[in-house]
Amino acid sequence: MHAPIIKIDDKHVPLYRIVWIADLPHFCGEEDCVREGYYEIRLDVDDSLWTNHHDRDRVISALNQWCGDPRDEGDLGGELDF
Ligand SMILES: [Zn+2]
Repeated sequence: MHAPIIKIDDKHVPLYRIVWIADLPHFCGEEDCVREGYYEIRLDVDDSLWTNHHDRDRVISALNQWCGDPRDEGDLGGELDF
């Protein structure tokens, strides 16, 4: 079994630290918002990571595999930066 650690942006994150992952990109309407269009990945330490659509999907796949979803088995070939 893979170590449950995935690279998001420039950070290696244990999957068990992830609480939830946004389904839609962030939009708050603030003019100076730097998160717009990014997907929030909420961590259990009162902090979040922000990432693009591709990496968001990559993290969801890793979580599905780690949590044992058989639909995702063999689906991750080469994409994960463990
Ligand atoms: Zn915002």
